[in-house]
Amino acid sequence: MSHKKLGPTPTQPIGAGAVGRYRDRILDDPRHDPYQAKQKYAEPTTCPDCRASFVEGRWRRGPVEGPAHAARCPACRRIAERMPAGTLDLEGPYVAAHADELERMLRHVAEREGHDHPLHRIMAIEREGERLRVTTTDVHLPQRMLEAVRSAHQGAGELHYGHDDYSVRAAWRR
Ligand SMILES: [Zn+2]
Repeated sequence: MSHKKLGPTPTQPIGAGAVGRYRDRILDDPRHDPYQAKQKYAEPTTCPDCRASFVEGRWRRGPVEGPAHAARCPACRRIAERMPAGTLDLEGPYVAAHADELERMLRHVAEREGHDHPLHRIMAIEREGERLRVTTTDVHLPQRMLEAVRSAHQGAGELHYGHDDYSVRAAWRR
């Protein structure tokens, strides 16, 4: 799996007080997913893989009524090309001991997020030793997951954004 190179974005610890700041940052997010921009979608378009539809400038869950163009959505293209936008690593003895519980929680966060944002998805969850690695189709999901894990399990987390690029790398240790 190849990863986009991350730029010199400084490491920023995520504490309870920092969450609001990160939320603001995401709302004004100036980054654009290159997978979104690479292709102009006609309206309406339905993705043959996940059945999400592009209508009025955004992707929604499910097909539209009546005829629609067919084209793979940006999330399904990332999945097909194995090019995740986000990675979250959970690591440590606590992770090894609570892997099932943590994985359930991550999947639950993704499910909730997917309701309004059908392109925000988990690509894979891999376990290796004391590490649980989650890859995602977007840059918002790793932060949501990190917030959820921190609020339920404490621990130490951090988030790095790719420099001038649509990518994020998050890590949590306990
Ligand atoms: Zn799709």
